[in-house]
Amino acid sequence: MTRDLHKGAVDLRRGNELWRFEMPVRNETSTRFMDEIRIISRWAYFFAFLGFAAAGAAIVFATLTDRTGDRFYTLPVLLPLGLLGGIIIACYVLLIGYVNGDAARRGMSRLGWTLLAIFIPHALGIVLYFVLRKPRTLNCPQCSAVVELGFGFCPRCRCRLNAVCPKCQRSVNASDKFCPYCGCDFGASVNPVSVPVPSQS
Ligand SMILES: [Zn+2]
Ligand SMILES: [Zn+2]
Repeated sequence: MTRDLHKGAVDLRRGNELWRFEMPVRNETSTRFMDEIRIISRWAYFFAFLGFAAAGAAIVFATLTDRTGDRFYTLPVLLPLGLLGGIIIACYVLLIGYVNGDAARRGMSRLGWTLLAIFIPHALGIVLYFVLRKPRTLNCPQCSAVVELGFGFCPRCRCRLNAVCPKCQRSVNASDKFCPYCGCDFGASVNPVSVPVPSQS
């Protein structure tokens, strides 16, 4: 099996036959992670920085204004605490930013979920969001119908969206050697049962 990254095509070799899957959907793990990071808006980064800076300012303020002489209010003690607090605050804000961007691309209420993420205490709003979020959708490259990520074919025009098993037609990973659903061996020289044909306009 070879993978042509420039053309976005994947070849599955099966016996003497070669199936070429056009891959309009990128599913490389690293690019996927970067795509996830990219949906966090600049505002979220701004507020995350603000939160981090506020934690730092609180440390300086606490050490400068201390009149008790307590050893707790010295920089070596408070600095690691402040750093940790700042990092936690920044991550929390970035998570809210992620919920904000992710809700929009899943057709969920952006404002509603952002408010829930902010105001439900102990990050429960964020947890609730990850439990309840809808599957991610995208548009079919051929008929622009809304399709779920991971669909093998477009339900409206049968355009191929992902690599599919030639036997059971389910969506498979391009790097799979066997079908995870029916066990079909993509490398064996058995006769293919059916070859999916994307409709072409
Ligand atoms: Zn379609
Ligand atoms: Zn299969």
